[in-house]
Amino acid sequence: MRIANLDNRAVILLGDEFADIATASQGRFGPDMTSIWQQWEEFAEWAPKIRTTSGRYEPRLLRCPVPQPRQVFAIGLNYMSHAAESAMQVPTVPATFTKFPECLTGPFDDIPLVGGANDWEVELVAVIGRRADRVAEADAWQHVAGLTVGQDISDRHLQFAASGQFSLGKSRRGYGPLGPCVVTVDEFANRDDIALGCSLDGMTMQEARTKDLIFSVPRLVAELSAVLPLVPGDLIFTGTPDGIGAVRKPPIFLQPGQVLESWVEGIGTIRNRCV
Ligand code: ZN
Repeated sequence: MRIANLDNRAVILLGDEFADIATASQGRFGPDMTSIWQQWEEFAEWAPKIRTTSGRYEPRLLRCPVPQPRQVFAIGLNYMSHAAESAMQVPTVPATFTKFPECLTGPFDDIPLVGGANDWEVELVAVIGRRADRVAEADAWQHVAGLTVGQDISDRHLQFAASGQFSLGKSRRGYGPLGPCVVTVDEFANRDDIALGCSLDGMTMQEARTKDLIFSVPRLVAELSAVLPLVPGDLIFTGTPDGIGAVRKPPIFLQPGQVLESWVEGIGTIRNRCV
């Protein structure tokens, strides 16, 4: 199932058509996105029965599918290749920071750049569906509602200012594009091995597979939920592979006018213009 935010109404995407969830459920679920994640277990049971659609949808009207998570976890150095290019040691616990939720935006929104050291980081993002409190790795997928595409846009200057403050440097306005939809875990042929990548003005910058994650999605749910509960609608940005701009020689940073496309196999592509 593919769940999206179409002009601020929760919908299910069926090919190039959509079903409005509030209409189809006669008000039981939706129309706001947040209620879908909060009622995830009931919703997931009811939703597969939807067959009738409300017509075709305009992709440009898709908004952030998880606009108000209570918690956003983001993981640094979670691909061996990225730890190596950053010349940083592979951590023994997930290197965790947050993207403050107000930085999250839609799949086709502009990125308003601030300063001259802004970088891209394509990431698989997990959306929590069922409360996770001290969950074992083997059970962790049952707590994930679905997966989506995220960009962890990073102001490298601010990120490493004041001896390193990742969260602020990654939370400027519009620095968290997300979408185009959340795809439930059952849709993936192999949920532990998914291709992802990004391109800048059509030139591929990152390409990887999630089987190379150091801390897999279920491992992250286990590790994080050992520290504190994860609640429905929380996000986990699972980390970026190699190919970021800051470590290139010379470094490449995002420039106004450039178009960043980020994709995850089985989910789709988000497209964000830098302004
Ligand atoms: Zn990141």
